[in-house]
Amino acid sequence: MAVPARRTSKTRKRLRRTHYKLQVPGMSACPNCGELRKSHHVCANCGYYGDKQVVDAK
Ligand SMILES: [Zn+2]
Repeated sequence: MAVPARRTSKTRKRLRRTHYKLQVPGMSACPNCGELRKSHHVCANCGYYGDKQVVDAK
């Protein structure tokens, strides 16, 4: 329910906003090297997809 802005204290507002977090959607750690990579994409760090190497690592 809507509440007038002045009824919400600074603390209330800040406590509510502690739940707002930055997140990186669709990212997970590579099972081979542990680097963050996009799900369903070849790892940019080691070139692995699933359990095998599909592109040359740099
Ligand atoms: Zn990797």
